[in-house]
Amino acid sequence: MDCGKKTSFNSRFWSMSAIKQLLFRQTLQRFVVQGVLMKFLYPDIYVKNIRAIPYGKMLERNIKLLVFDIDNTLVPYDMPEATEDLVIFLNGLKAQGFEICLLSNNNKKRVELFNKKFNFTAIYKARKPASVGIKKIINMFGVSPEEVAIIGDQIFTDIWCGNRNKMFTILTKPVEKRDSFGVYLKRGIERKVVDAFKKKAYPIHKKS
Ligand SMILES: [Mg+2]
Repeated sequence: MDCGKKTSFNSRFWSMSAIKQLLFRQTLQRFVVQGVLMKFLYPDIYVKNIRAIPYGKMLERNIKLLVFDIDNTLVPYDMPEATEDLVIFLNGLKAQGFEICLLSNNNKKRVELFNKKFNFTAIYKARKPASVGIKKIINMFGVSPEEVAIIGDQIFTDIWCGNRNKMFTILTKPVEKRDSFGVYLKRGIERKVVDAFKKKAYPIHKKS
């Protein structure tokens, strides 16, 4: 009898403990997911294109340097050169007082050809989200990370790179739906992060 009581008490105890463990694990998972999203993957702002960025507010925030991705942020990935419109627009930003540079994971030929009409400081094969390219830029311009905004269409390269370096991060919609195959594979996961960001399922990034 005693033995039976002990067993049922134990089994109840263990089932309670299992529930507690499960709840604890779920809470932990939520915190981990939230932490990762906030720290690395959420942009500070999400805009439909580079023209929709509140540049006035950027100046108020003391942003001095705008770091643009090229492919699918400024032009479609298969458009070799900038349009005249884009040349006027980016030069207009320079006239407003911003420094501008290009940071691309694409190769030298692509970046140099695109940059011909601008002659901006440009880094190719930047290996975003790695910090090697962006750190080069910070040193060249002599700015602090808080004075830099990084602008791109990809969470797992541009935004991650900016967030890990404590910069202001701006996610743009891709200028075209067409993507290179490697990027296409990542878009599904990116959409989930963007949806979470839009629904404000988790608190918005601490920098915003
Ligand atoms: Mg891109």
